[in-house]
Amino acid sequence: RWMVRGPDAVDLGLWREVPPAALVVPLDTHVHRVARALGLTARPDASWKTAEEITASLRRVDPEDPVRYDFALCHLGMSGICPARREARRCDACALAAGCLSAARARRPAPAARAAARRTGSATARRS
Ligand code: SF4
Repeated sequence: RWMVRGPDAVDLGLWREVPPAALVVPLDTHVHRVARALGLTARPDASWKTAEEITASLRRVDPEDPVRYDFALCHLGMSGICPARREARRCDACALAAGCLSAARARRPAPAARAAARRTGSATARRS
């Protein structure tokens, strides 16, 4: 990525014979987790096939340079802005919440709270 993209403040751009469109996103745990949250892949394994699938999703946004988003995805996870354990307050403040599959899950009450709500709802229904 560094050798192909650029030159700019981040990438060297020395390998001009390789087009940025041919790159596959570098897949680490952060990119994988955030990509799953955003629905760029549903694959649970951090494999080459998953990297290709995420790249294909990003290619729909920028066909010429899909890997340009890899640092943004990685930074969201690495910085803790998008924590591994979903937190509704973080998702509420996140600019990606509208398109994020995990944001809705984070806002759902925990299973114990849902069960308690069902019990309360049942009791209310029986009383009326
Ligand atoms: S909305 Fe929540 S889960 Fe989705 S990317 Fe933002 S912080 Fe992560």
